[in-house]
Amino acid sequence: MSIKDNLDGVRERIYRALDRSGRKPGEVTLLGVSKFHPASSVLEAVAAGLTLFGENRVQEASGKFPAILAENPSVSLHLIGSLQRNKARTIVPLASCIESVDRIELLEELERRSAELGKTMDILFEYHTAEDSKSGYPDRDTLFRSLDRLRDMEHLRCRGLMTMAPFTEEPLPVRKSFRALKALQEDCARRYPELDFSVLSMGMSSDFEAAVEEGSTLVRVGTAIFGGRP
Ligand SMILES: *Cc1c(COP(=O)(O)O)cnc(C)c1O
Repeated sequence: MSIKDNLDGVRERIYRALDRSGRKPGEVTLLGVSKFHPASSVLEAVAAGLTLFGENRVQEASGKFPAILAENPSVSLHLIGSLQRNKARTIVPLASCIESVDRIELLEELERRSAELGKTMDILFEYHTAEDSKSGYPDRDTLFRSLDRLRDMEHLRCRGLMTMAPFTEEPLPVRKSFRALKALQEDCARRYPELDFSVLSMGMSSDFEAAVEEGSTLVRVGTAIFGGRP
């Protein structure tokens, strides 16, 4: 199967999951997770019409993406993996969105680096919803402290929330994790009506159809598009 065939298959499955859940085509954006795959694979996906990519490591992203972004103005990159504060200055010029904001110190550093560049950065707040994962804000109060702080930040734009479901074949814990993020989105929208929480980034190769059924608006799909990682 070529990357184009894989992409067509994933798009079809998203379309059907939207249809099943009474949602409209176009309500979900597909992000291709290109970590561990070469620039040539990214370009194959670009040729097949994919314009949004995600990387989870700053070092890999900063090796691969400057040339791709320079030559393909329609392409954008999200950082989806945990970010160390000292790597913020490297990723801010490259990414259009940081999906993995998980603490207030990182928020402050992203604001500082975005201000230096005169750039407005989209951000998602990563929330911890799965017992076996460590990433994301651990509870609502910690998240709300960051959201309170965001009010004074001129170079960051809240777009929504992100989570990683547990790594399990069992459907129930996965659904529970997606539902928790959806409920949090509703709480946040009520509590911070001036902020935008429209993006719900949830769903990967193994669970993106369930995520779409539970309200995802952004699925992060690697293996099902690019094949296995070395
Ligand atoms: C690797 C990764 C994905 C994609 O995983 P696949 O199972 O290959 O689709 C999605 N989100 C994050 C945060 C990742 O690190």
